[in-house]
Amino acid sequence: MTNSTGGGKAERTASPPSPGLAKGIERWFIERHAPYTGHYYGVLKTLYKAKSPFQEIEVVELAYYGKTLILDGKVQSSADSEWIYHEMLVHPALVAHEGPERVLIIGGGEGATAREVLKHACVKAVEMLEIDIEVYRACRRYLPEFNAGAFDDPRFSLIIGDGRKFVESLSGRPVYDVVIVDATDPLEGGPAYLLYTKEFYEAIRSVLKPGGMMVTQAEDVSTVPQMATCTVSIYRTAKAVFPLVRYYTCWVPSFDGEWAFVIGSTGPDPAGLGAEEVARRLEERGVGDLKYYGPGVHTAMFNLPRYLEGLLEGLEGARVIRDGEPIFVFSG
Ligand code: SAM
Repeated sequence: MTNSTGGGKAERTASPPSPGLAKGIERWFIERHAPYTGHYYGVLKTLYKAKSPFQEIEVVELAYYGKTLILDGKVQSSADSEWIYHEMLVHPALVAHEGPERVLIIGGGEGATAREVLKHACVKAVEMLEIDIEVYRACRRYLPEFNAGAFDDPRFSLIIGDGRKFVESLSGRPVYDVVIVDATDPLEGGPAYLLYTKEFYEAIRSVLKPGGMMVTQAEDVSTVPQMATCTVSIYRTAKAVFPLVRYYTCWVPSFDGEWAFVIGSTGPDPAGLGAEEVARRLEERGVGDLKYYGPGVHTAMFNLPRYLEGLLEGLEGARVIRDGEPIFVFSG
């Protein structure tokens, strides 16, 4: 997670701010959101640490937030609130689609996105395209409560590879009802930055069946214009490709941020669905066990605060992201 462009190398560990606060803490982990702001977390225990060919992987136990996956120094999912992020990534688009049967996940190594997709009884096949087998292995071993059996569901298939290349290899065959982009941030030199460009969204659109949709995580929202550039640019990039685009957010405590999502639809408008219809679809598909998303949230979430509407339409410096002109978040 995190946002904003800018340079600078940050320290990921530092002295505790006060000895009294440090009881039981193995070390401090600091995620910098921008050159002059960030969040420090107390690490109680390191469960796994490795460097794969793609990224640095850590699974830790954080004070307050619980078990957490960190990739390249950025928090991906924490036990306290991963369900907020994953429910909000998956269900709005799946519910808005009239009958999703085949779903593609790009990234999603924890398996929590697959877990949520598989709650829809109408889904017959979920393919998860993860670039890094080490993330999958670490999550399977250390975060089984995040994937909750999803990896063993007969409808689930894991494909190890680059999501960008995979989608392009389908060469425009429309086979998916919904494509979910649950990738790491666009970091300079990282594996994911080409998953946020106009060219990639065009490739995704070409593999969607009529009426299909894409949803992507879209970085954090901020009142600070420099920090809002990335999320607004993702929105504008989707708008350059899809006939209908919706933007919504939710607060994710362990990200210390209001997190954004963008749906690009070639069919129904997710914001056009009333609470009764959302409730009917959830019931008909047997989707239970939701802790955040529901009919009330669905009907409210597309109403954005005025300042955010203003940023989406008017933020200077936000732009359509292209392969030749990518966007990078702050890396610290
Ligand atoms: N919830 C997360 C966040 O903080 O935004 C994203 C979670 S998920 C762990 C992200 C996954 O995307 C990682 O496991 C990473 O290996 C995978 N990934 C990054 N680039 C990729 C690519 N080009 N193709 C497929 N998977 C990719």
